Amino acid sequence: MGSWKKEDGNYVWIHGPVIVGAGPSGLAVSACLKQNGVPFLILERSNCIASLWQEKTYHCLKLHLPSQFCQLPFLSFPENFPKYPTKHQFISYMESYATHFSIQPRFKQTVERAEFDGFWRVQTQDFEYFSWWLIVATGENAEPVVPEIQGIENFHGPVIHSSVYKSGSVFRNQRVLVVGCGNSGMEVSLDLCRFNATPHMVVRNSIHILPREVLGVSTFAIAMALLKWLPLRQVDKFLLLLANFSLGNTDRLGLRRPKMGPIELKNATGKTPVLDVGALSQIKCGKIKVMEGVTEITKNGAKFMDGQEKEFDSIILATGYKSNVPNWLKGTDFFTKDGMPKTAFPNGWRGENGLYVVGFTRRGLIGTSWDAVNIAGDIADQWRIINGGKNSCGSKILFKDSQEK
Ligand SMILES: Cc1cc2nc3c(=O)[nH]c(=O)nc-3n(C[C@H](O)[C@H](O)[C@H](O)COP(=O)(O)OP(=O)(O)OC[C@H]3O[C@@H](n4cnc5c(N)ncnc54)[C@H](O)[C@@H]3O)c2cc1C
Repeated sequence: MGSWKKEDGNYVWIHGPVIVGAGPSGLAVSACLKQNGVPFLILERSNCIASLWQEKTYHCLKLHLPSQFCQLPFLSFPENFPKYPTKHQFISYMESYATHFSIQPRFKQTVERAEFDGFWRVQTQDFEYFSWWLIVATGENAEPVVPEIQGIENFHGPVIHSSVYKSGSVFRNQRVLVVGCGNSGMEVSLDLCRFNATPHMVVRNSIHILPREVLGVSTFAIAMALLKWLPLRQVDKFLLLLANFSLGNTDRLGLRRPKMGPIELKNATGKTPVLDVGALSQIKCGKIKVMEGVTEITKNGAKFMDGQEKEFDSIILATGYKSNVPNWLKGTDFFTKDGMPKTAFPNGWRGENGLYVVGFTRRGLIGTSWDAVNIAGDIADQWRIINGGKNSCGSKILFKDSQEK
């Protein structure tokens, strides 16, 4: 075990759980704890709540799923929100959520290490926090995935990850190589078309594309409803029928479908189906070019698996994100090496020794809400026992020198 002694001697005992991350998951579990009268502390590495949404998303982003599936516990979206709120609307909701529940994270606190040592020891660059409970809320998308592509260091133009892409205005009239064809790759390519750029989207693997809606009804809502009555594979078959009916055969466009159905694949691998918001029509009319895998990036462009070679002005890596839990959470085998809970949904929210996990269900914000309610209920039960039946206690932060904050 590494040394836990801080040079300045600041050890902090937290009455209630320590929550790592102030994204939607951290906020949701905080609100549920508040409702149960349990104090807590949230540690957040950036200087704002919902930093993924505020700092790492493009301007044109809207929620992929209809609003009723993206609300957090105990506070609905405002009535004037559209069915698919914009990212700015979602951020304003998150801000109101934090204000409504008086949630005040401690910002600029990066958790560098956490380990159970009879109680949880959580180390940031400034302090060491102790608690009986640790709630992991750092998200499935904590760090951008940047693939190694041969020759990329020789490319003459900018190479960026989609997490720093804001708008196609910067790429006006450019030839842009977009690596990746998930929701981000599709939406970035579509946005580039709006600025008269020529996106070439690299599609290395098979991919499920589904219509966002069929006859005005959200595909996600249809799937959720059917899953109550039918086995998963039958629902998948039905979704693929709907997709073929409304989008046609996507294989013809170079977008091969995986053998496994969309929901089964999502549950097994976390690979999210693309919900089409218009990119497909741009592919059909040739404005977005679909390319096979890249073999090499050259000084001026890229070579492709089918032997073609093309010149580009910029490269955007829409290659996704990964969890960062293995970097900082030590001494537990609750997570895989990829930083996802080993225990399958719906039981992946509780580990051992007071370890909890919110927002790692691969089910988006609806999964977050389920986790948050479960975790808060579980901790509240323990809290009441520890506090002799009392339901509430002021949140105190006690420093080693008995100073109260
Ligand atoms: C482009 C995009 C669009 C999406 N659209 C949807 C959608 O429409 N619907 C949906 O349900 N989901 C969507 N998602 C999934 C999205 O990740 C979740 O909806 C949501 O942001 C998850 O919330 P979270 O709090 O679990 O994780 P995050 O939002 O990632 O928040 C985690 C927080 O933890 C902080 N953190 C990380 N590591 C540390 C550390 N070591 N110390 C301290 N703080 C740390 C981060 O700074 C961050 O603020 C989308 C994701 C992306 C990338």
